[in-house]
Amino acid sequence: MTGMQAAAFRIAIVGSGPSAFYTAEALCKAHPGDLRVDMFERLPVPYGLVRGGVAPDHQKIKEVVRIYEKIAAHPGFRYFGNVTIGRDLQPAELAARYHQVVYAHGCESDQKLGVPGEALASVHSATEFVGWYNAHPDHRDRRFDLAAARTVAIVGNGNVAMDVARVLLCDPDHLATTDIADHALAALRRSTVREVVLLGRRGPAQAAFSPKEIEEIHELPGVDVAVRPQDAALDPLSAAWLERDGSRSQQRNVKFLQERAAAGASSDGKRLVCRFLVAPTELRGEQGRLRAVQLQHMRLEAAADGTPRPVPDGGSETLAIDLLFKAIGYRGVPLPGLPFDDKKGIVPNVDGRVVEAAGGAVRRGHYVAGWCKRGPTGLIGTNSLDAKATVAAMLADRDAGALLPGNGADVVDLLRQRAVDTVDWTDWQRLDAWERQQGEARGKLRHKLPSVDELMQTVRTLRRG
Ligand code: NAP
Repeated sequence: MTGMQAAAFRIAIVGSGPSAFYTAEALCKAHPGDLRVDMFERLPVPYGLVRGGVAPDHQKIKEVVRIYEKIAAHPGFRYFGNVTIGRDLQPAELAARYHQVVYAHGCESDQKLGVPGEALASVHSATEFVGWYNAHPDHRDRRFDLAAARTVAIVGNGNVAMDVARVLLCDPDHLATTDIADHALAALRRSTVREVVLLGRRGPAQAAFSPKEIEEIHELPGVDVAVRPQDAALDPLSAAWLERDGSRSQQRNVKFLQERAAAGASSDGKRLVCRFLVAPTELRGEQGRLRAVQLQHMRLEAAADGTPRPVPDGGSETLAIDLLFKAIGYRGVPLPGLPFDDKKGIVPNVDGRVVEAAGGAVRRGHYVAGWCKRGPTGLIGTNSLDAKATVAAMLADRDAGALLPGNGADVVDLLRQRAVDTVDWTDWQRLDAWERQQGEARGKLRHKLPSVDELMQTVRTLRRG
């Protein structure tokens, strides 16, 4: 399919994670006519956070790619891996060629704590660690001093914090047969980490992890989940809030945490310590290395909408630690040529339609789906509903004739002129098969190459047969 494609309804999707594929799926279902979907991904490999974010011991979650493979089999679907929008192609060039452009490029950075000492060695973001153990090319060169650490703190208690805690505490043999990066497995085998302390700024009723995740850590052989009775106790505000507004998951979390507090900590083995109502105010180091985190004690008070929010209660303490991970949420990064809401860290939009700025005019033919639309929340499946809502807006605009002109010129020609070596779906299928074969030979599910250069070299070798 090169040259002109004038008659078709032509869509570009930027990104190849869940929200990108669910957008393609909703379009394929809603537009049975001649639909062309071109998907652009800056890495050679597809699937976004399913490949680079989901933990290696959560392979069941990764099986969702079977759905994405079916979507990619649509006759009008093309994949362009190794193409960076804003470098190899500009948003304006997509806007000239397609009727609609959907940005689904996620949130690739992380939130900052904003406390003194954040730049010390041994202070990391969970995003970096997760990318590193998943062989994400952006994070292959990170170093985590696991062999010199005994106590690790994690700020935040969402599911990313749980993934990091579990990977740090589990027996490396638990990960050895997965698709974990070789460099990460080797470092985890040398790790001396014995204790991970989760630091939640609110109480046990507001913990952001799912019950399944904390229970999974408790079930790891040789790992204890320890909670002090004073951490598991609910203040009157939280008790009333849990009763009134708490979800089943939050109720199950509190029950679990109170059971752990009642059981008391076992003295041997590794442990996850769940602390609540504490917020870091300073990270302290010696000679550039992290030594301790200064914590202020918090209490909860009701915000205007009744949600318990943390405020300092005047108390404080110092906790000696060797490493710290910030797991306080992802954040979007601006894409050249596309509006960005710096306050929210997302592309400003109204119901998936990109606007020039918050409250500004709609940019015709431009849409967003997934985390760059709503922020980094929800599970993989949440992106399916989210994509459907964006596609509903796209189809309404198509029916109203509010499309980009879409000049029909094939982007392939432009990419060739610029000598961009794009990875197509056949290339990816070959690489996918190669990664599995290499994995099998090493006694694991998949062997992931951790750099773009190595991935591209392998793609080229496989092309030659
Ligand atoms: P998250 O669920 O939003 O959790 C962020 C945590 O950081 C919360 O505990 C939050 O506390 C805390 N926090 C935020 N700012 C803070 C600050 N300045 N100081 C101290 N604490 C702060 O985010 P996430 O863990 O990054 O996960 C992102 C999304 O991916 C979530 O929807 C998650 O469920 C999903 N995910 C799912 C899985 C899985 O299903 N296995 C795995 C990974 C991720 P407050 O609640 O007080 O704001």
